Amino acid sequence: MDCIFCSIIEGKIPSKKIFESDNFLSFFDANPVTPGHALVIPKRHYEIFLDMPSSLGIECLDIIKKTTLRILKENNASGFKLVSNNKKIAGQVVPHLHFHIIPRKENDGIKHLV
Ligand code: AMP
Ligand code: ZN
Repeated sequence: MDCIFCSIIEGKIPSKKIFESDNFLSFFDANPVTPGHALVIPKRHYEIFLDMPSSLGIECLDIIKKTTLRILKENNASGFKLVSNNKKIAGQVVPHLHFHIIPRKENDGIKHLV
């Protein structure tokens, strides 16, 4: 299967890694919405959030939190958005589950979705 995020996991495509755990990887988004924009992905290919076993939940939350703390500190940001687009209709372009962590600052020009 041709999946860009599986290729990143396999080391076939370079990425700017932030953290890695047994089942997850975090790295910087190639087209950041704001400085520090990061992605967290499971190492196994699940298309959407509903496909990921709940048994991976704690490890997933842990790497999201660790990554968030790092990028907020590095970018001196006070808040962040945590977003996952699931299926094309919701804006998912890469069909491998991922969580966006988007640092937020005053006047960064980003609109609230919800
Ligand atoms: P989504 O629209 O939720 O599927 O988001 C996919 C995200 O993956 C976008 O923000 C892209 O900028 C990002 N992306 C695509 N290819 C790469 C890559 N090779 N390295 C890092 N980020 C990527
Ligand atoms: Zn994949």
